[in-house]
Amino acid sequence: MLNKNKPNALKRMPLADLHSHMGGAVAAPILWTLAHEQGIKLPTKNYWDFEKMVTVQKSDLHGMAALDREKYYWTELIQSSPLAMEPAVRQTIGGAYRAHNIVRHEIRYSPMKRNRGGERDLDYIILASINGLERALLEYPEVKAGIILMLDREFSFALNEIIYHKAIKYQPRGIIGIDVAGPLSTKFHMAAYVDLFREAKQRGLGVTIHTGEEGNLKEMALVVQQIEPQRIGHGILAHKDKRLLASLREKNIVLELCPTSNLNIGVIKDIKTMKRVYRTLFTAGIKLTINTDGPEMHGTNLWREYNLLVEHKIFSAKEINGLIKNSFAATFLKK
Ligand SMILES: [Zn+2]
Repeated sequence: MLNKNKPNALKRMPLADLHSHMGGAVAAPILWTLAHEQGIKLPTKNYWDFEKMVTVQKSDLHGMAALDREKYYWTELIQSSPLAMEPAVRQTIGGAYRAHNIVRHEIRYSPMKRNRGGERDLDYIILASINGLERALLEYPEVKAGIILMLDREFSFALNEIIYHKAIKYQPRGIIGIDVAGPLSTKFHMAAYVDLFREAKQRGLGVTIHTGEEGNLKEMALVVQQIEPQRIGHGILAHKDKRLLASLREKNIVLELCPTSNLNIGVIKDIKTMKRVYRTLFTAGIKLTINTDGPEMHGTNLWREYNLLVEHKIFSAKEINGLIKNSFAATFLKK
């Protein structure tokens, strides 16, 4: 149990991070070394400038599109090879366990954003990440971890379908689910993906979808009513719609909240708003989990996220214990 008189008690509690992007989870010095090992031309030769390039400084960004364009572009480019993906995954899982006792760890990435526009073979990228996963699990047998492959709103249906088929192919080797991310786009229609996601669920893959983070609620309503994923990435906009809140509760859909990321990207403007939004979701009876979204990029870690919520009285210590339990219950990893 988290003891509210000992704020650092969380540091020693076993924790689960269900929403962490590989593009945001690798520490800047590791990315720097990987870039140099591969001879990638960077726009700076100064490490400290590079660190600013791959991390978010509060309020230097506005919205998802800027995050993709300005930050993920570089981290994904550096991770675009088997040579980079193996140590990136291995060190992310091992590091999170050593520093913050993360014993259930789901990491996610888009293989299609790491193949240099088709130049590299997707299977080699995926296999390298699986090797990194397996080696981390050998090194730290207390940890259970898995990989979620991400589709993207930027891609055509045909490309996204390939990612889905790779997830099925490598399901026995540690691919535990699929997701879709990326800024809202007029070219992307979630309705076209209903059958794909429903089939994925039937075949035993976990389904989580980034939606209701910014923009309007139309897409999130479609996701909840027609796809019924086990989890939704963010989904914070649901606080505006009582009917949607009721559907989330009835269908037992879990939300993956990422507090610092919400503030950094500006989808929640301040702590006061965060309290109102998160409390509305909580009191509506929605199962909530707390995650990092990519700790290195957002300059945070999981126990800092929980402490932020306690310090600002968004959740009580007792409620935080419930949220931690939600994460262990909602993981796509086998129990
Ligand atoms: Zn995310």
